[in-house]
Amino acid sequence: MRTSAPWSSICFVVSVFAAPSVNTFETSSFAAHDVITRDFVIVGGGAAGTYAAVALKDEGKSFVVVEKTNRLGGHVATYQDPTTGASVDYGVQIYDNDTIVRNFFERLNTPLAQFDMANFGSPIYADFKTGNLLNLTTGSLGQDYLEELTEYSYLNDGIDLPDPVPEDLLLPWVDYIAKHNLEDSAMATLARPAIPGNLLDIPALYVFNDLNDLMLHEENGGAVVNGKRDNSQLYRNALAELKSNVLLNSTVIAGDRGSNHRQGVRLVVQTPTGKKLILAKQLLVAIPQTIQNMKTFGLDNREKGILSQIYGLPYYGGVVKNTGLASGFSYKNYAANNTYNIAEIPSVVEFNPSPVDEHLYYWYNSAKPVSQKRIEADARNAIKTLQKLTGAATQPEPQFVAFTDFGPFHLAAEVDDIRNGFYRDAYALQGHRNTWYIGTLFVTGSSQVWNNTAIMLPDILAAAH
Ligand SMILES: Cc1cc2nc3c(=O)[nH]c(=O)nc-3n(C[C@H](O)[C@H](O)[C@H](O)COP(=O)(O)OP(=O)(O)OC[C@H]3O[C@@H](n4cnc5c(N)ncnc54)[C@H](O)[C@@H]3O)c2cc1C
Repeated sequence: MRTSAPWSSICFVVSVFAAPSVNTFETSSFAAHDVITRDFVIVGGGAAGTYAAVALKDEGKSFVVVEKTNRLGGHVATYQDPTTGASVDYGVQIYDNDTIVRNFFERLNTPLAQFDMANFGSPIYADFKTGNLLNLTTGSLGQDYLEELTEYSYLNDGIDLPDPVPEDLLLPWVDYIAKHNLEDSAMATLARPAIPGNLLDIPALYVFNDLNDLMLHEENGGAVVNGKRDNSQLYRNALAELKSNVLLNSTVIAGDRGSNHRQGVRLVVQTPTGKKLILAKQLLVAIPQTIQNMKTFGLDNREKGILSQIYGLPYYGGVVKNTGLASGFSYKNYAANNTYNIAEIPSVVEFNPSPVDEHLYYWYNSAKPVSQKRIEADARNAIKTLQKLTGAATQPEPQFVAFTDFGPFHLAAEVDDIRNGFYRDAYALQGHRNTWYIGTLFVTGSSQVWNNTAIMLPDILAAAH
């Protein structure tokens, strides 16, 4: 899946690992007000980074969050209709109704409400390419899948694999289905939006890691959502509280981390008001931990070896209005003649209803990066096809009002790397050079991300003593 020309690899190695100059991290190279000294530095202000910041504040610790965009929330994406002020969530949709979710929302004074899965709309299955309606049902997960899931409890809240890694877990999902006679549940296991890449080829371990007990609980009445159907409210409230300790529109441009806890962490961060030097005892990495994202953190050879095995896939989402399509339906892209009717990518996954009249949100799946222009053109063509297919009363021109690039999404490693101990090595990296990896390296859903961060917190706090 990782492809690049040999010359580009050479340039990459040279530029990525070029050493910073000797005085890069000297406090004397910075004005006093540009030196930020804290117990912790958290890089990334999505679900994991924001949760960690609030937890550390509540422990009485000092911290600073470095976030590259102009807001907190990461994969939570909310469009605010300028006329009505109503919201359309087109990233993270729902949460599991469990203790960690309820406590975190309460802590940030954000209301939660029960979510009725019927709000996702009645499905209409159509081939967006050929313009045919399909008479399909994806069904629900049966006993066959649930029995398999119980075999792999170590995938429920992480990817803590046995050694050797069971070969079945490395099978492409379509082969696992065939080998374990999961035909009854096959379509339901594949009817997962917000999963990037080719669903049939995903190694089985990632299916069990994502489609786990928490997800089943959500689907069986245990889903909650922000009371105003505005999942960004949680993060606006967090930003209002943490503001003086958050650097927005900022990225790490150089890093140096000591080999023992006394040496701490030094990061140079580019902010809208110039370069800052951050001196901290420990670093929490809450961004996708790909080598491209981590190249400026002053990696040692062990870190380079492990992190260069991680890849994430593209995934996109947006909001479109003026579609002329009947409301209350989820228009899903399937293919008449493909295995399990899985649509080819790149393509729109589905258009879903939202609480705002005439506004649909959509997701777009691709194995390779695609431009916003191409995505919106594909979505427009799909809407035109659906207008004809469903006999829409009017056939207006769709208007695209929001767009987000969610990549690199669903961090993963190649099966050979997993077989050779990638996850064992990645777990062993926790705490190495005062650095902790929170976020979605080992889990996918928000509850899991928050649970894992909470579980790691005692070790992280102890390391800063
Ligand atoms: C379309 C979609 C729908 C989803 N739906 C759900 C759902 O309904 N329920 C659910 O539980 N989960 C859902 N998820 C999964 C969701 O990704 C996780 O729940 C959670 O958001 C992951 O948190 P995170 O902090 O690890 O990553 P993110 O939320 O992605 O946060 C990472 C943060 O790091 C920042 N960043 C990235 N690179 C840098 C850098 N170099 N320097 C500084 N900052 C950087 C980003 O801007 C971002 O703010 C969905 C994901 C997607 C994409």
